[in-house]
Amino acid sequence: MKPGGQRHLARECMPSRAVLVAPGQLEFQAGEPPPPAAGELIVGVEVALTCGTDLKTFRRGHPKIALPSPLGHEFTGRVLAAGEGAPFRVGAPVVVAPSAPCGACPSCARGDESLCDRIDGSTMAWGAFADWIRVPAPIARRNAFLRPAALAPAVAALLEPLSCVVNGVDRLDLHRVEAAVILGAGPIGLMFAALLARRGVPRVAVVGRHALRLETALRLGAHAAIDLGAHGDDAVRAMRSAFPHGPCVVIECVGRPDAWTAAMAGVRKGGEVLLYGGCAAGTMVPLDARRMHYDGLTLKGAFHFSPSDVRRALDLLTSGLDLAPLITGSLPLARLEDAFAAMASGACIKLAILPGDAG
Ligand SMILES: [Zn+2]
Ligand SMILES: [Zn+2]
Repeated sequence: MKPGGQRHLARECMPSRAVLVAPGQLEFQAGEPPPPAAGELIVGVEVALTCGTDLKTFRRGHPKIALPSPLGHEFTGRVLAAGEGAPFRVGAPVVVAPSAPCGACPSCARGDESLCDRIDGSTMAWGAFADWIRVPAPIARRNAFLRPAALAPAVAALLEPLSCVVNGVDRLDLHRVEAAVILGAGPIGLMFAALLARRGVPRVAVVGRHALRLETALRLGAHAAIDLGAHGDDAVRAMRSAFPHGPCVVIECVGRPDAWTAAMAGVRKGGEVLLYGGCAAGTMVPLDARRMHYDGLTLKGAFHFSPSDVRRALDLLTSGLDLAPLITGSLPLARLEDAFAAMASGACIKLAILPGDAG
């Protein structure tokens, strides 16, 4: 970093960042960003999006993140300072997927970059609920991009979750799939619906709660939105109401053991289940061995994204995949806890958190 390269933050108050000091306990800490090391970026956050991972981390911590820790990982902004050799100049609008594979661990060596053994809170660009965020050099090099001018910042900030969904869709065998059900109408479930519809799956249904989310499923291309409450909270019944023999594919996007069980119980014979929603550490889910064997089920898991998923996600965002309906409101950074409460109630889908906004 050359002296003078760092723009002064034009803010009336000290820049701040939300720090989770213990589960359920947020603090706003003031502090100027450090000078960037070689290849690093300091990005002034323009928009950060709420994510279920943040809510889960806020409530119960996260196995890959040591506390105290800043929070937030879906963001876009402008480069405030660029280390020697960094790929973007000060002032450039960038969108970043907040991790990068190491390229050297056994998973990376096998080509499973999304499962890199060295991705955790210490190597990620973590802490976007803040005025600024540090983007380590490997991420700046591999998973940071100029934000296309046509892309609204809040929509551009969907790059990370969309990359995860691109990775999940890739694991499915969509050949000859006539019907797919997505369990869970949160942002991830809704993005799966949008991508499967775009891929031409003839019937895509989303099972969930909350009118706003179910309406959004239809806006994003799902052919049916099924209210779980209307089926006695029984996800298998809900699925079978639309597909009496079960759908060919079920994607579980809830992250609770009962939903994992329902996904495996509701899929048709010979069908495929993608178990996508992360359950709490230590969760065990029973397996119906008879169904698994005699009905020839295929069960898959998926997690995270690789740099090629990120590039494809950015292509999707810039080629007409309209995910703007997922962002249902905005709040200033100082009201982050209110955002978590709104998420927990299902009253929103994703909220744009705006730093430096006194609200
Ligand atoms: Zn996320
Ligand atoms: Zn690795």
